[in-house]
Amino acid sequence: MQGLFHHCILQIALDTPLNAIFDYRWHCDAGEQPQVGQLALVPFGRREVMGLIVGVAAETDVPAEKLKDALAVRSQLGPLSPEWLALAGFAADYYQRPLGEVALPGLPKNLRVLTTVALDRALKKLAKLDAPHDGTPLNMPQLNPSQQEAADAIGGAAGFKPTLLYGVTGSGKTEVYLQSCAQVLEREPDAQILILVPEINLTPQLEGNIRARFPGVMLATLHSSLSEGERMLHWLAAHQGKARIVLGTRLAILASLPNLKLIVIDEEHDPSYKQQEGLRYSARDLAVWRAWQLGIPIVLGSATPSLESWHHAQSGRYRKLELRERAVKNAVLPQVKLLDMERDKPKDGLTSHLIAAIKQRMERGEQSLLFLNRRGYAPVICCESCGWISECTRCTSFMVLHRPEHRLRCHHCSLEMRIPRHCPTCGNVDLQPLGRGTQRVEEGLQAMFPEARVLRIDADSTRKKGSAQAAFDTVHRGEVDILIGTQMVAKGHDFKKLTLVGILNPDTALFSQDYRASERLFAQLMQVAGRAGRSAQTEGGSTSEVLIQTRYPQHPLYDAVVRHDYDHFASALLEEREQAALPPYLFQALLRAEAPELATAIEFLTIARDCVEHPGITINDPIPMSMTRVHNVDRAQLLVESASRPMLQAFLREWLLTLREMKSRVKWSLEVDPLDI
Ligand code: ADP
Ligand code: ZN
Ligand code: ZN
Repeated sequence: MQGLFHHCILQIALDTPLNAIFDYRWHCDAGEQPQVGQLALVPFGRREVMGLIVGVAAETDVPAEKLKDALAVRSQLGPLSPEWLALAGFAADYYQRPLGEVALPGLPKNLRVLTTVALDRALKKLAKLDAPHDGTPLNMPQLNPSQQEAADAIGGAAGFKPTLLYGVTGSGKTEVYLQSCAQVLEREPDAQILILVPEINLTPQLEGNIRARFPGVMLATLHSSLSEGERMLHWLAAHQGKARIVLGTRLAILASLPNLKLIVIDEEHDPSYKQQEGLRYSARDLAVWRAWQLGIPIVLGSATPSLESWHHAQSGRYRKLELRERAVKNAVLPQVKLLDMERDKPKDGLTSHLIAAIKQRMERGEQSLLFLNRRGYAPVICCESCGWISECTRCTSFMVLHRPEHRLRCHHCSLEMRIPRHCPTCGNVDLQPLGRGTQRVEEGLQAMFPEARVLRIDADSTRKKGSAQAAFDTVHRGEVDILIGTQMVAKGHDFKKLTLVGILNPDTALFSQDYRASERLFAQLMQVAGRAGRSAQTEGGSTSEVLIQTRYPQHPLYDAVVRHDYDHFASALLEEREQAALPPYLFQALLRAEAPELATAIEFLTIARDCVEHPGITINDPIPMSMTRVHNVDRAQLLVESASRPMLQAFLREWLLTLREMKSRVKWSLEVDPLDI
């Protein structure tokens, strides 16, 4: 050391596409050495960017005249822990991305753009934020024996204990989570708990429940609809250990939680735990790794677990706990019936049987829910005289008719136009809507039941901020007789007066090329069916019903839904997957390429396929993606498979080095453990 000041070298990870860690010089004040895990502002090209200090050294190989000075170190912010850095490092390795590209976007944006002054101000604001006052906690209901057993097993667990909480819809899983949390918080004064949910907007009840249960505990939420300022404040509260419960969506898995002691993942099978762009990570898988790294318990809850988790439970890697019955006294699972659309031809999309059932609910003052996973009025319009149909000019898909707005819209590239007055090819003025979306069903219902209060909830009806919540509140207040909606209405809600669920048109998923389609359909049907009859049986003694309209009433998938039989369905699917050598018995990665012409994309993938040796790895032929063209770009893919995860990982590492060298103009990306193939 030379006198009071000396230089050190900061090794800094930046959010750049290359797997690069850059060296910068830093003048240290005496006694104030920057620490690994702190953020530093550095010059990069012509910009100033925030980077993450991953090493501090005395020397560097970079010649002195090329070495640049770091501009500032955010020393007022405690460093990210070595465990957090290891998590980011693992994610970077596993998903084959540069560390900086994982670690930095995982932080709130404001943390990366704030000036020192603004950061100081935010920290002051946080310091003033007291833990909420110790009010009287809302009474915890008396758990039933299976709930109690589960809560004790989870809350009392020590060490890495992954638990699959397999409980039918309405079995009171939330209560189990809350009481497990209570045990942990009571036992360990500083403990932090991370609770992940698929979509926070659809589970506002949970946030309220947590606040009511733990009035003296600071709760921070982390999800994409927070403002940047809020997100930063909540993130800091977690980072400083002040927030003891963090409730968030998938992005919360990268939160800094220095005292993390328990992770809860609700609806663990939900596809929204998988990020579908950029760093395509699975928050569920990272959560399991994080729990393993910290040696803490993790609980994965679902009525229809993912086959991956089910497989782990069967093989004993996860402990399985079951809740077989509904928690509310006298509430029973709804009766599921199949309505054969060949025998009972639908009118306005509804069979006479379903119409009668809705009528019955209306008379009894109960609510009905109709589920149709297709928004808009009709998926396509056509000309009956020449056969023209409303295709999107930019995508391999159709323009959807939105009648209230008098528009045609492509749901993939957002192209919009007025409804043409006449057929663009033959001039015929009689263009017909083909098929049925939620808007059209709403119209039909209103005509059939003029006195009914019909409400549609889908992405179109809830564009304005807060409108979804307002719509759900109307249902909760009992001001709706018939609710029609997409998957937005299928999740989580606990509508007390709902005793009928009608499912329209689920058949298309039965014949999808995607081998996961049936797993998903089953989960979706069970979930929406689970909205019915959650309260005690109604006074008339009627049981709740789920009516599925189908052309294939003999299909084994529906048979399993009727019997509420996930166990056998899952076992059968797993057997099929094993025989067909599919995940979870096989590990996959997908290389995607995009180009203005399909041939260019395929050519790139062909070269990629042939450029490396690959013992133990199967590389399939490049093929166009099932939806080939989106927004004037053609897309193709190459599927890579191996029976060994480490072998696949090693191969991908090598392969990427080669691919990055190929100076191709094709835009490509790699996804590990892809969900959609
Ligand atoms: P799940 O998440 O398993 O679908 P919930 O946790 O939403 O189920 O619980 C369903 C309903 O049962 C809720 O209204 C909840 O308040 C109620 N409930 C849960 N546990 C109990 C219990 N032990 N006694 C009475 N009601 C309960
Ligand atoms: Zn025509
Ligand atoms: Zn389009």
